[in-house]
Amino acid sequence: MREIDTIVVHCTATRADVPLSPHALDAMHRRRGFDGCGYHYYIRRDGQICSMRPVERTGAHARGFNAKSIGIAYEGGLDAGGRAADTRTPQQRHALCVLVRVLAKDYGIKRVVGHRDLSPDLDGDGTVEPHEWTKQCPCFDVSREVPEWLGKA
Ligand SMILES: [Zn+2]
Repeated sequence: MREIDTIVVHCTATRADVPLSPHALDAMHRRRGFDGCGYHYYIRRDGQICSMRPVERTGAHARGFNAKSIGIAYEGGLDAGGRAADTRTPQQRHALCVLVRVLAKDYGIKRVVGHRDLSPDLDGDGTVEPHEWTKQCPCFDVSREVPEWLGKA
């Protein structure tokens, strides 16, 4: 088993009003040259958690951080106008909380971050700020929800 210490949260960056099946997500990543879906888990609008890639296998979701992480993506991240937005449904929020909590316990996770939080800290002040984000993914502030997910709120 590989060493895992991080969970990276993503959105699929697709419009929340356009369903994206697990099969379509898998195909999307294959077209980008990945060996199947790069995320380990995929959370549908209705809260269903889909296993996309065995955790034992290294993911393909966060350049430079794949080796020791688990990738989770929720369906959506863009509003009907194609703009970045926190489109999570109550079911997705709940499923994400449960999934992160279980994985953190099972794998001894040390940190849970959003994809955009892994952007380079350009001004070197120790915080990755909005102007430094190389992308919006996952379109919400993960750090604000981690305490609740891990049961420390
Ligand atoms: Zn991402």
